[in-house]
Amino acid sequence: MRLRPGTQVLWRHEGSSQVHADPDLAVVLDDLTGEEQRLLDGLERETSEHAFLARGRELGVRAGRARELLARLEECGALERARDPSLDHQGLGAEIDHWSRVAQRDASAVVARRGGAVVAVLGLGRLGLLVASGLAAAGVGTLLVEDRARVRRDDVGLGGYVLHDVGKERGERGRAVLRLAYPHLRTSAPARTRPDVVVLVEQDVSDPVRLRPLVREDIVHLLVVTREVDVVVGPLVTPGAGPCGRCVELHRTAADERWPAVATQLLGTPTRGVEAGTCLLAAAVTVGQLVAHLDGRQVATAGTSLVVDARRPVPRTQQWPVHPDCGCTGLPARTGVVPAARA
Ligand SMILES: [Zn+2]
Repeated sequence: MRLRPGTQVLWRHEGSSQVHADPDLAVVLDDLTGEEQRLLDGLERETSEHAFLARGRELGVRAGRARELLARLEECGALERARDPSLDHQGLGAEIDHWSRVAQRDASAVVARRGGAVVAVLGLGRLGLLVASGLAAAGVGTLLVEDRARVRRDDVGLGGYVLHDVGKERGERGRAVLRLAYPHLRTSAPARTRPDVVVLVEQDVSDPVRLRPLVREDIVHLLVVTREVDVVVGPLVTPGAGPCGRCVELHRTAADERWPAVATQLLGTPTRGVEAGTCLLAAAVTVGQLVAHLDGRQVATAGTSLVVDARRPVPRTQQWPVHPDCGCTGLPARTGVVPAARA
């Protein structure tokens, strides 16, 4: 047992201490004796309930009262009873501590579960590799990353490509970069592995040819589209349960009947780089949404796009209802697989 790393017990005044500094999390403990406050102050140094009770005895705090204080601390998520050291060894300490503080209970199991998740990232430019790296840092265990294009000079840096990678295949170099930074990460999976979610990082428009099998195979996918001066994150498509990429295109066509002609031309345009600030913002939003989905928390991108642009750091939202002409929500849900990415 110990005080959760990063948790603080602070004096307010005589007889009153508070756990956590953040006003959203702070829990005030009132009616404490001076000895009880000192006992709480020393909690950071204690490593077991036994040691805590022993120090309480030294200070004149009876065992029943000391246990009561521990129970109060446990209720507000400030105590950690046991910790799997292998997660810390994988660099996931900050994840466990953060999500435990948010949930006010131990989040080790939530973070450990991410290790069993399989996420495919298709499109490994500056933004795609940064997203993949963020997912690995959050504890996602298997990343299937693909991009046959070559690493550009302006892909180098943020996601982890180095100068030496320029001109080489993004997918191959991306896997190498990720494995180097995250030795526990798997970058391949047995054939017929079904990803928990697929992220498509594309330029200007989502390619309908890539989307169709995902809808058909009932695989959750997040659309991320880099445009000329912003990035559109979402919607997160859950086939049969909300709008799909085709719904979005049908809405765009309703707003501009020449959109299909424009969109078709955008499919084959030469690759563009993504500005650093916009790339970082878009990656943060994308990783946050994917991890929320994997953890089973609510996402902001269900039927919604978040338009991210470093000039306006608060994302703009765009809602997409299911389009009546699409028919995607009437499609029968089928089980199936997508080909595993190459090792
Ligand atoms: Zn649809």
